[in-house]
Amino acid sequence: MERTCKKCGETKPIEEFRISRIYKDKVYYMHICRKCYNINHKFWRKLNSEILKSEYERNRDKMLIRMNEYAKKRTDNLHDSYVAYIIKNSINLSIKIIRQHPGLIENWRQQIRIKRLLKQKKNDIKTS
Ligand SMILES: [Zn+2]
Repeated sequence: MERTCKKCGETKPIEEFRISRIYKDKVYYMHICRKCYNINHKFWRKLNSEILKSEYERNRDKMLIRMNEYAKKRTDNLHDSYVAYIIKNSINLSIKIIRQHPGLIENWRQQIRIKRLLKQKKNDIKTS
């Protein structure tokens, strides 16, 4: 399948065109080729860099709060990636290897849970 780019006028194989994300359930190729899209996109970014920057500044606090919330949730729920990170730092295994052993992650998760419980109990005794 081929398509003619609306911008440069060249006829190219369909793989040279990006798939639009307008339709979720339908594959829809854009009317301009990848090369022209990239040029357009770069140009657009340059034109709007000031706006993008101020948008970023405006949303930064909100974004940081969201990121912190996410990190806290990950830590509180002992998410796989968090536990894998702890293991990596404790016994110097690569994340890839750790990921291949779900039992290891589960084991450490239990240990961390117990440690947290003990810490909690200690604090309870201290404050009461
Ligand atoms: Zn083109």
